[in-house]
Amino acid sequence: MSTHTSFDQIFRNAMTRSSPTPVDIGVSGGRIAAIEPHLACEAAEIDVGGRLVLPGFVDTHIHLDKACLLGRCRHDHGSLGGAIAEVSAMKRDFTVEDVYARGAHVIERSVLHGTTRMRTHVEIDPRIALRGFEAIKALKRDYAWAIDLSLCVFPQEGLTNDPGTEELLIEALRDGGEVIGGCPYTDTDPQMHIEKIFDLAQQFDVDVDFHLDFDLDPSWSHMEEVCRQTERRNYNGRVAIGHATKLSALPPERLKQATERLAQAGVAVTVLPATDLYLMGRNATHNSPRGLTIAHKLVENGVVCSVATNNLLNPFTPFGDASLLRMANFYANVAHAGISEFEACLDLVTDLPARLMNLGDYGISVGNPADIVVLDTDSGRNAIAELPDVLLGFKNGRQVLERRRPVLFHPDKMLLAVVPAGR
Ligand SMILES: [Zn+2]
Repeated sequence: MSTHTSFDQIFRNAMTRSSPTPVDIGVSGGRIAAIEPHLACEAAEIDVGGRLVLPGFVDTHIHLDKACLLGRCRHDHGSLGGAIAEVSAMKRDFTVEDVYARGAHVIERSVLHGTTRMRTHVEIDPRIALRGFEAIKALKRDYAWAIDLSLCVFPQEGLTNDPGTEELLIEALRDGGEVIGGCPYTDTDPQMHIEKIFDLAQQFDVDVDFHLDFDLDPSWSHMEEVCRQTERRNYNGRVAIGHATKLSALPPERLKQATERLAQAGVAVTVLPATDLYLMGRNATHNSPRGLTIAHKLVENGVVCSVATNNLLNPFTPFGDASLLRMANFYANVAHAGISEFEACLDLVTDLPARLMNLGDYGISVGNPADIVVLDTDSGRNAIAELPDVLLGFKNGRQVLERRRPVLFHPDKMLLAVVPAGR
């Protein structure tokens, strides 16, 4: 038994993913100060009753600026091109206040579902200019009590073909942009697009996160060019590609080669199940392809992968509650994950996205920020299987959420409740 007395707070009987038996977690000054069984101290106590404690979910890829637009959509396109065109038309009218309000709604839902870290892609081009960026910067500041938000600025509608975009991107990178994204498939010169994004990344010393290979045609790909540039710039471990649905269309031998290439170059892959499943394979008349890259298999072969939200309630994805646990459960189901792989599926929304984002202080470990999320289950495997509620959430040791357990009014138990004691 330890004799620490300097904790501000202590979480008792916590199951962590690295401990087979419950431990106590002592928090001091907003950081985890001790993890041991039966900590002795005078601090305020929360008994989590053998439930699973996580350091929160990590969403590497979400578009806060174009979330929650269903009420403004005119048609039901169901295609990637249609979704881009529809949002392109709408965003001319986006104001800072409008983006802020929709983004705040999504952040609050994410926090209530246990997300503590997030990379949001922010569109920068002459139609939206820096209005979306200004709104997201304000959200980062105003919600810092609940979530660490990282801004990835990117040209959704192309770079070389969209005059004025590069200048705006540079302005954003000078003024708070932390990562640069790219979208070569919307550019008339994808090769030059990739080249220029890497140039800007090096100039500002920021990581890179592309939207890439977002279709099911295995006859061509931009992946090799991204891997080549990653190696040329010595950017191993600093580059991610989102969607990469083409990988799901490769036969095993070619998939093996592609996986080895990604692992060798240190390029990470983010799978976006809600969008990938909604937009891919729509032309099939039967036996529709899933269009989902099997991330946990790539992980087994050395590629860092994450599962993320991408879009909510807009033409790209007309679904969403901002729950990453639900997304991991959804992924596990569609990806045919076996029970023995459920822990690996939970890794895709926790430890692995933290690695993708190069977060050095994530995890239930002494010295890290006391980001502590309590799930109403006892293991990572059961978290994927059961989709438990997030009951409590703390950010830097401060409580940010509580979800009360629902009460069922069973008639027999109601009767028992009013039976006098002693009967
Ligand atoms: Zn995206």
